[in-house]
Amino acid sequence: MLFGRNQKNPIKIADKGVVDWKYTTCGYCSTGCSIEVGLDDKGNAVATRGVASADVNRGKLCLKGIFEHELFNIPGRGDKPLMRENYYDAFEQTNWDTALDKVADEIKRIQSEHGRDAFAIVSTGQIMTEEFYTLGKLARGVIGTNNYDGNTTLCMASAVSGYKRSFGSDGPPGCYDDFEHTECLLAFGSNLPEQHPIIYWRLKQALEKRKFPVIVVDPRVTMFAQMADIHLPITPGTDLALLNSLAYVILDEGLEDPEYIKAHTNGYDEFRETVQHYDPVSASKICGIDEDTIRLVARTYAKAGKAMSIWTMGINQSTHGSDGVCAINNLNLITGNIGKPGGTSLSITGQCNAMGTREWSSCSGLPGYRALEKEQDREDIAKFWGIDPEFFPKKRGLFQTDIFPAIETGQIKGLWIIATNPMTSMSNTPRIRKILEKLDFLVVQDAYQDCESNQYANVYFPAGVWAEKEGCFTNTERRVNLIRNVIKPYGDSKPDLWIFNQMAKRFEQGKKITFPETAEGVFDELRQLSKGRMLDYSGMSYEKLETQKGLQWPCTEGDETGSPRLYTDGKFQYPDGKAKLLALPFIDNNEVPDDEYPFWMNSGRVVEHFHTRTRTGKVGNINKFSPTPYMEMNPDSAKELGIVHGGYARLTSRRGDGVVMVQLTQRVPPNMVFIPFHFHECANRLSLGLLDPHSRQPAFKQCAVKIEAVIDQQAAAIRNKEARAY
Ligand code: SF4
Repeated sequence: MLFGRNQKNPIKIADKGVVDWKYTTCGYCSTGCSIEVGLDDKGNAVATRGVASADVNRGKLCLKGIFEHELFNIPGRGDKPLMRENYYDAFEQTNWDTALDKVADEIKRIQSEHGRDAFAIVSTGQIMTEEFYTLGKLARGVIGTNNYDGNTTLCMASAVSGYKRSFGSDGPPGCYDDFEHTECLLAFGSNLPEQHPIIYWRLKQALEKRKFPVIVVDPRVTMFAQMADIHLPITPGTDLALLNSLAYVILDEGLEDPEYIKAHTNGYDEFRETVQHYDPVSASKICGIDEDTIRLVARTYAKAGKAMSIWTMGINQSTHGSDGVCAINNLNLITGNIGKPGGTSLSITGQCNAMGTREWSSCSGLPGYRALEKEQDREDIAKFWGIDPEFFPKKRGLFQTDIFPAIETGQIKGLWIIATNPMTSMSNTPRIRKILEKLDFLVVQDAYQDCESNQYANVYFPAGVWAEKEGCFTNTERRVNLIRNVIKPYGDSKPDLWIFNQMAKRFEQGKKITFPETAEGVFDELRQLSKGRMLDYSGMSYEKLETQKGLQWPCTEGDETGSPRLYTDGKFQYPDGKAKLLALPFIDNNEVPDDEYPFWMNSGRVVEHFHTRTRTGKVGNINKFSPTPYMEMNPDSAKELGIVHGGYARLTSRRGDGVVMVQLTQRVPPNMVFIPFHFHECANRLSLGLLDPHSRQPAFKQCAVKIEAVIDQQAAAIRNKEARAY
């Protein structure tokens, strides 16, 4: 007789006809899940599965990873280079030589007429590390523009800036294994279950073995907040006041680690003086968290013994994002929670290779965490590339968020956009539209020719996507993972590495510099340039990366395992080896709700989508779960405005407006709405995006809007349907 589950029909997994599984790494978020793509007997990608022996994901994948094989062949892929004289003309197909010649000629023309920096390059967090390095070599060593930046400025720039200010260098000190050791987790502005589902699953695994307090700071009752032991529904943009107050309580009650502070930090006296202004009573009036909860959280964290902080865009995308990161580092330095298992600061990165661009793209300086401002670094790289060090500028140029205003003022005339989509991703997109229209020349390089930014391009380069190429990504925990080439590029699209190499050949200086043709050849240059540095790759090889499912830097020559944590010896990257405790006064400088615009507009990610939906918006098995721009609104506020669940409402800010479907929920307080940022039709049409003074990262998440019911619901439905069909 059969009992229980045996009585039921066994689960049948559809036979997709897979004849070969190929190893690679997921190309969406920064978790870095190892995956295998299944190929049928015709070489088509027909399935994806997680790799059980990979420490990161242990066989699991999230929704996006499960359907990743579908994105090779979805609507909107570009298969031929396109050209046109004006952005409002129709594109015509052309061949690669003609398109590459045209772009090289335009770069030379603009630079000779207006100066080298009049041509700008804005790249991404999505291409391979080897491609980033090659692009940096092209931009800094051949084209010679100093107005070159990446998408990190919209995503992780505040974390980079905060790490540099606190520890003397970029580089997340912690790793996922810290969940297994910590006695307290404090998460700021991170909805882990939706943004990084597999990192969340790692946390849940740790919690199943051993209970420890989870504290979530977020203005919205996110999925993460719902599972937390303590949720702090903070007033948007006031994290710094809360963090200063936590430090106040720790110092006031003598809960700090004086030996660690004395041995490993500078700046204690000034830091202590500043936090004296943030007693819990005063701070509660700024951040909206009651004084008893501030004290409870401070005591819980400081007494845990091993406590860790994680954060995502809720901290980074703020007018004081860099200060917020430094304040998290302050908290961990005064409690001795850096460099030990379970005691750390760990920024949860956004894009699959946001770390790779930070390490090797030369956007903020020179490769391998070298700086343009340092003479020795300029000389080392010039010698390695075989060029004159005087060709390099002596300090970095404009950040992405300053490049667009410089186009507006006429300082920049030409732009090359690579695998990023500012017409949806930048704040205040009505302004970005006018800026792109103003360019003399725009080239867009992307796997998808229907990305919104391409509407303004003169030339379009169709690029290969993800596992149509080979190379590495570095994940959130500094793990370098290998992406094997699974299938050949779509149509006549080409790997980004090939495009950069071909462009280099069209410049005199490019002919003098060696540009390896294979990704593995480029990786060898990275290994050489990293030797003896903090981000040492010299012990890595493609073979080891595949066998071990990634290695964490530093991984020195002969090292087989890599290093899970930084600063384990308490030595930081400042010349005296000490970290800095920084005095960080809170300055309230953001747009806030008022009588005319009475609601906070908060934005963030949903689990189904990635960034501007150039990929996930077209993968049917993902998009069907979240096909419509919508907002979460509190039922009490909606009732007052005559807005109903499932109906449409118009949001208006001082920048623009957008129409969205309404979902009524208590997840947001009465004075706030939440909008997924992925949709071109809404979030960034409204956002203000004031910039952090250190990182130049925009405050996407905080601005003021007014809301009204849309009278003609049918027209709104048609408008949104048309927008979705685009
Ligand atoms: Fe890919 Fe991130 Fe999902 Fe892992 S968690 S499968 S890396 S999108």
